[in-house]
Order: sequence, then structure tokens, then C-alpha cells
Amino acid sequence: MPSIDAALKAATIQLQAHSDSPKLDAEVLLLHVLDKPRSYLFAWGDTPLSDEHHHQFQQLIAQRLQGHPVAHLTGIREFWSLPLFVNNSTLIPRPDTETLVEQALALPLPDNARVLDLGTGTGAIALALASEHPQWCVHAIDASADAVELARKNQQNLALSNVEIIQSDWFNALNDVKYELIVSNPPYIDEHDPHLQQGDVRFEPLSALVAGDNGLADIEHIICNAKAYLVEGGVLMFEHGFEQGEAVRNLFTKHGYKNPRTERDLGQNDRITLAELAS
Ligand code: GLN
Repeated sequence: MPSIDAALKAATIQLQAHSDSPKLDAEVLLLHVLDKPRSYLFAWGDTPLSDEHHHQFQQLIAQRLQGHPVAHLTGIREFWSLPLFVNNSTLIPRPDTETLVEQALALPLPDNARVLDLGTGTGAIALALASEHPQWCVHAIDASADAVELARKNQQNLALSNVEIIQSDWFNALNDVKYELIVSNPPYIDEHDPHLQQGDVRFEPLSALVAGDNGLADIEHIICNAKAYLVEGGVLMFEHGFEQGEAVRNLFTKHGYKNPRTERDLGQNDRITLAELAS
């Protein structure tokens, strides 16, 4: 059997035409098979793989060659330094969405703020915020029963007791509570966007990706309906597409919110827009 180093090298070459990060993909998949931390690769590169591990690794590489996301193959993705279970019922958490968490944490909110995450998926945003502020009361909704199950599993695994995960089609199942902050990474991609045919999104649910009206339909629905669920001066914050900043600011203004502003992600693209409910 090949050594760890040789197996990684061969897999990296195989993945080159199929992934933007072939070496990293190979390493993450091999560590998953070996059930070892990253440091193992550097210390034990000359060690031959067992038959079984080599076989399992090759199977994962074959699936990756077909386009399956690495996170689906390992079943786990880190977000905000929290390990989250993932599956094909939700979006895979993305680094861009950590910008939303940063912006939310930078707001001047009360110590016991009530926060709502709409379309929580894996629970990534809600769990990240709850982990930073144990005194906050965080509600997270998703319309999909499978997503709710996954988010609850993540919540239990992280033992974050200040989060409640609720199955709801946007605001439909919510009680008469008002929040200081509402956040959402809703579907915002236009159905004709060619990116939907490329990379990981091909394996993610369309219901979490695509929205009508050039991708803005769900954002407008939320802007319109969130007013009844925000305290005076409460903040509504979205992740959106890199070309949607101006449109989202205009929707906020159209619906009577004040101080809309857009922030950029790590790639310097417009990604987050927020505004306050006028008092
Ligand atoms: N940012 C994701 C992508 O472009 C889409 C996320 C979303 O629609 N909410 O792949």
C-alpha cells in the first residue's frame, strides 16, 4: 500500500481539474478516513496506509471527482470555529457568512438581547451568536423539517442552551415576540444564474439557494414582515449576493427602515446589508 504522502500526492493530481483546492481536499478526506488531527500528516507521512484506509480514501476521492462537496463526504464543516454536522438538506456554511456574524456582534445590543435567525439551515449563524453571548436568547427557524432536525443536532452537540430551533415558514409559526436583532442568510440567487450549475451548489437544496424576482423575493418578504417582530430601533440584517447591495438598501428604504448600509465580505464583495426599524 502507498504511504500517506504518496496517497495524498496521487489524489491531489487526480483532483486538480475538479477542485479549486485539490491538496486541501485530499488532506481533509484522508484525515477523515484516519480519524486523526491535521498534525498527523506531518509526523507520519512515510507510514503505509492499511488496505482498508486506502480503499476508503479512494472511494471518497472518486465521489469528490464526481463533484460531491468535501463537507458532504466528511459530514462536518467548521463555522466560527464550531464543528457543525452538515448534510444535503441545507446549505453548507460558508466563510462569507462569518462576516454576518461579525457585523451582528459589532452592534450595540443589550446584554440580554433577543435575536431571531430566519432560515437557519445547519444553525450556523444562530449557534455562532449564541456561543458568543450566552445571555442572548436566540430563536432560529427553518421551513424544512430536515433542516430543523440537523440544527437541533448541532445545538445539542455544542450544548448551547440559549437557542430554540423552531420549524416555521419565515414568520408563520412565531409567537408575538419582538427582537432586538433579526438576521438571515435567505435564498438570494436568481434561478437562471449559471453558478447554480457549478461546484458545491449543485448538491445543495434549491429551496435554500433560489428566490424569485432576481433573487430578491424572500429578502423583500422578510423586510416587509419583520417590522411586526422588531422592537423600535431593532436591526434587520441580511447576507445577499455581491451585486444586490444597492437593491437591498432600496428595499429597506421603500419599506420605511432607516440607516441602511452595506458591508463587504473577506473577498471585498458587498455581502451584508442592514437597517433599523424607524421609531
Ligand atoms: N453564498 C451562496 C453561494 O453563492 C448562496 C447562499 C444563499 O443563497 N443564501 O453559493
